[in-house]
Amino acid sequence: MTPPTGEAGGAGWISRGDRPPRCLSPHVSPPTSHCERLNWTAPDRWLFDGRVLRWTCDCTGSFYELRQAGGLRFIRWTLREQETDVIRVSDPWPAKVADAQWTALLMGHLR
Ligand SMILES: [Zn+2]
Repeated sequence: MTPPTGEAGGAGWISRGDRPPRCLSPHVSPPTSHCERLNWTAPDRWLFDGRVLRWTCDCTGSFYELRQAGGLRFIRWTLREQETDVIRVSDPWPAKVADAQWTALLMGHLR
């Protein structure tokens, strides 16, 4: 039996049976057809590392963190390369906007 894919309503997490059981953090969903692009930039000096509020699983070698620095929040993207980590950050947003962006990212509407 194949379970329904849960496409209806756009809710629903894509659960993946092939993930190792150590995955306790969420994974980002694959980008949707109308996925919007975030403006990723290399971290600038003005940007404090901030405090990590939420994060995704790092089992794929690429993970995202929602961080708070000062009164703003931003998303930090780490891509694990063989030698070094490639770090990219989003624009900073007010908390409400950042939380919505984070949710969109997890749902595959933003990347
Ligand atoms: Zn994982």
